[in-house]
Amino acid sequence: SYEETLKMRKEFVTPSAIPFYRKPLLIHKGEMQFLYDHKGVKYLDLFGGIVTVSVGHCHPKVNAALEEQIKTLWHTTAIYMHPKIYEYSEKLASKLPGDLKVVYLVNSGSEANDLAILLARLYTKNYDIITLKNAYHGGGTSTMGLTAQAPWYYPAPGIKNSIHHAMNPDPYTGIWGGKNCRDSPVQTKRNCDCTHGKCLAEDNYINQLESEFKYSLPRGKLAAMFAESIQGVGGTVQFPRNYLKRAAELVRQNGGLFVSDEVQTGFGRTGDHYWGFEGHEIIPDIVTMAKGIGNGFPLGAVVTTPKIAQVLTQAIHFNTFGGNPLACAVGNAVLDVIDEENLQQNALDVGSYLLKGFETLRDKYDIIGDVRGKGLMIGVEMVANSDTRKPMEVNNFIDIWERCKDMGVLFGKGGINGNVFRIKPPMCITKEDAKFALEVFEGAVKNQLN
Ligand code: PMP
Repeated sequence: SYEETLKMRKEFVTPSAIPFYRKPLLIHKGEMQFLYDHKGVKYLDLFGGIVTVSVGHCHPKVNAALEEQIKTLWHTTAIYMHPKIYEYSEKLASKLPGDLKVVYLVNSGSEANDLAILLARLYTKNYDIITLKNAYHGGGTSTMGLTAQAPWYYPAPGIKNSIHHAMNPDPYTGIWGGKNCRDSPVQTKRNCDCTHGKCLAEDNYINQLESEFKYSLPRGKLAAMFAESIQGVGGTVQFPRNYLKRAAELVRQNGGLFVSDEVQTGFGRTGDHYWGFEGHEIIPDIVTMAKGIGNGFPLGAVVTTPKIAQVLTQAIHFNTFGGNPLACAVGNAVLDVIDEENLQQNALDVGSYLLKGFETLRDKYDIIGDVRGKGLMIGVEMVANSDTRKPMEVNNFIDIWERCKDMGVLFGKGGINGNVFRIKPPMCITKEDAKFALEVFEGAVKNQLN
C-alpha cells in the first residue's frame, strides 16, 4: 500500500534524496510521455525523470532492443570483445563533429565528468579547472567541486581544491543583462543596455572571466573549463550569445581544454541542434553525456579526440559496467529512435509552441518573470515582482507546482532560489500535450492570485 511504501522508504533508503511533492507520488507505470500512479491516475510528465527519458517511457523500440539483448548476453566487461560496444561507439561518434571520435562508456553523468577531469589533467599536465557559478556537473567527490551551488555541497575537505568558479553569465538574475543576451528566438521583457547589436552583458561577463585568469589562476596552469550549454539544475540558464565561444577561446589561449557537459542538452533536446554546444559554435575537446543517452538505462559517455585519448594509456583504466551489452543495445536503439521519429524536429516544434505559450502568459501575469530556453529545454522563472526580479517565495512556488500535479501535469523545478519551473519532457510530447500543459499552468497561476 501507499503507507507501507512510504514507511519502507523512510526506514531503508538514504534520507539525502527527498522525493518531489508534499505527498510523494508512487509511480507504477510509464508509457511514452505519461506516468501512472498506484491508483492508475495519469500524468503528463514534463520532467522525464530529470531530463532523462528522452524518447519516451518504455518506448517499444527501445524495449524490444533490450529484450533481444537480454536473451543473448548481459555482461562481459571489457576483458572480452563484444561487437555491441564497438557498433554503438561508432554510431555515437558519428553524431559528433570534428575529431571527436574516441568513446569511453560509463554509467552516469558524474562518472563521465570525473573521467573528463582526469583526461584534461593528464593531457595538459595542469591541475586547475574553471566552471561557472550555478553549474551542476555531478555529486561525486571530484565532480561536487565542479558543481557550483551551495545546496549541493558537503563539507568534505579538498572538494574544491584547484577548482575556480567564474561569475555566472546569467542575463536575468545576474548583474548584467539584456534582451539580446541569448540565442533564444524569444525576447524577454527586461531592460537592455545593448546597442548596435553589441551585447554589453556578454562583454562584461567575458571581462569577468578574464579577470579570473588574471587574478585567481596560477599562470599557464589551466587544465580545463567545464560548462553546460544551457544550465539545467541551475534553472535553464542561457548565456549571452557568444559567451561560451569567447570563453572557449580564452581557455585554449591559457592552455586548457574546453569540456562541454551535454548531460542535459544533448541528443536533439535543444531542437535547433543535436548538441547544445553547436548552438554556441564551439567544437569542444571533450564532451560528456548521460541521462537522455540511455532513456533511463544507466549509461553515460565521454567522447574526445584520439590525441587526448592517448593519455589514458599510462596505466589501466576501465570500469566494470561501462559498455555493458544491455546498455549498448539501449543506447543504440535510442539513437535510432531519435532519427527515425524526428524527435529533434519535434523538440523544436513543440518547444517553440510551448515557449510562445509561456511568453504569452508571462506578459499576462506579473509573477511570471522570465521564460527562456529552446527546444524542449525550457525554464519559467517565477518572481514576487517582475520589475525587481525578486524570486517568488518557495512556498508560493510549490503551491503552484503542486496544483499542476493535481491537475495532471508533472513539472520539474530548479534554480538556486527554487523558483524555476523546468520543462524538459520526453521528446515524443505532442502539441496537444503542450496545450494541455499551458492550460493547467495558467489555471494554477490564476488560482494562486485569487
Ligand atoms: N551534469 C549535468 C549537467 C547534470 O544535470 C547532472 C545530473 N543532474 C550530472 C552532470 C550528473 O549526472 P548523474 O546524476 O548521472 O551523476
